[in-house]
Amino acid sequence: MTEYLTHIWRPIPGGRHAFPASALRESLDDQVKSHCGAEAQAARLHDATEIDWIIEPTCNTCWKILKENP
Ligand SMILES: [Zn+2]
Repeated sequence: MTEYLTHIWRPIPGGRHAFPASALRESLDDQVKSHCGAEAQAARLHDATEIDWIIEPTCNTCWKILKENP
């Protein structure tokens, strides 16, 4: 059974947001947008540290969007 990821959670300054999985294939210099509209440099999605994961709270808006549109 193969599962395809449709979104990925990543911590960026201000919160841990859900991004479309395709954001990981963008050029590192490009801006990518989370489901709630938060923008980050694509490189941020690749080098989030363990500390980032701990300190950034989960974004409720992203969470609700995914819950309502799985
Ligand atoms: Zn969000």
